[in-house]
Amino acid sequence: MAPAPDSALRCAAMPDRASPLPSLDALLRSPEAAVLIDRFGRTATAYALRTVLAARRAARSFHAPPIAILDEAADTLARQFAASQRLVFNLTGTVLHTNLGRAPLPPEAAEAAAAAMGSATTLEFDLATGRRGERDDHIAPLLCQLTGAEAATVVNNNAAAVLLVLNTLALGKQVPVSRGELIEIGGAFRIPEIMARAGAILREVGTTNRTHPRDYQQAIGPETALLMRVHPSNYAIAGFTASVGTADLAAIAHTANLPLVEDLGSGSLVDLAVWGLPHEPTPQESLAAGANIVTFSGDKLLGGPQAGLIVGNKEVIKRINANPMKRALRLDKGRLAALEHVLHLYLDPDRLRDRLPTLRLLTRPEPDIRATADRLLPHLRAAFPDRPVAVEPCRSQIGSGALPVDLLPSAALTIGGNSLETLANSLRKLPRPVVGRIASGRVWLDCRCLEPENESAFVAQLSGKG
Ligand SMILES: *Cc1c(COP(=O)(O)O)cnc(C)c1O
Repeated sequence: MAPAPDSALRCAAMPDRASPLPSLDALLRSPEAAVLIDRFGRTATAYALRTVLAARRAARSFHAPPIAILDEAADTLARQFAASQRLVFNLTGTVLHTNLGRAPLPPEAAEAAAAAMGSATTLEFDLATGRRGERDDHIAPLLCQLTGAEAATVVNNNAAAVLLVLNTLALGKQVPVSRGELIEIGGAFRIPEIMARAGAILREVGTTNRTHPRDYQQAIGPETALLMRVHPSNYAIAGFTASVGTADLAAIAHTANLPLVEDLGSGSLVDLAVWGLPHEPTPQESLAAGANIVTFSGDKLLGGPQAGLIVGNKEVIKRINANPMKRALRLDKGRLAALEHVLHLYLDPDRLRDRLPTLRLLTRPEPDIRATADRLLPHLRAAFPDRPVAVEPCRSQIGSGALPVDLLPSAALTIGGNSLETLANSLRKLPRPVVGRIASGRVWLDCRCLEPENESAFVAQLSGKG
């Protein structure tokens, strides 16, 4: 029953009691499969065909013509080979949206990352001596200059930074932390759990709303490794509250001959108040107030790639770098290249706002945002003729837990009507998906993160939607 190649499909298509579906071999010999093989390769094409055949068999759907099976496999392959991680328009109103990839890099930083990833580099190579170099050397001097720290290192993210610092300094020893700072950042980052995984023993002090210097003093004993302060970045407690500031806690730590570690979370390298934003603590302030080690994220307010930055005391950084865990948490050459580029921008604070997308988006004036919304309004009305579309004031969030109570005045395009979930879904199905949010009976598209140079791309894909 081995059919000749050219008649394979016709033969295979004929219902046969023993083998009612066409055979994989027969399908692979068809001209339609040849097109798929040319585009996706023989292995992937065979896998897709086999998967479709198995699904038909499982559904007892035996009488499919070969062309239907080939079409289904072509769809499967097209879906499989399309990038899973897509570029989207972030119109959620949250600038540093963790689920949407946090800080957008300056284009030159992204280019530097791409170039480094596509080539051999001096990642750990000293051109002057021709010998091994240190990957941290690309960014440590910059971080020291910008923060006033003696030494610096960098790891995968701030969660890794906290893990590494605690594991280096407090393995098997106690770390007093205020009950008001036992935060969860989202996902699995909770201070008590990170502490446990780092091998340190959490010693809770104070209460949720009030912690005093004596609470720390009473907790310090021979088993204490360090004092730790965590910036409760994603929530605020108001009312009858008290906490111990960095300078006071540093004094308590140093009196007991202990280091003070501060996890700043977002940690901005510049005073955001200069641009009219609420002040967020900076690593330089923490160090000046006496913190010995400060950790913060690369892709939150800093506006760089995902990274965890550790700055502070030279001896401590040396110990951190000698911890074998450092190797498991280190940064790759692409992100190091991007981070180096972003840190260079901070050397010239006068032009930082124009060059760093995160800062530009966070400080974008409301009239600018409204102008974008006004320009887009007719296009959105044309795309959704049966729905009420308007420009309305709204408030954006910084995101990523930074400054949780401070909202930035912004403007949104709103789309009303029925079935808002369906509408939001259709926006997510656009070639470059548009992600907004549903509130008060409308879909809100906050235009803060839609900069003028992207408006035409946004408009171009709207035609034909409705
Ligand atoms: C965000 C945050 C972290 C975690 O930082 P990642 O860079 O997301 O790993 C840790 N601590 C605080 C206080 C944070 O705000």
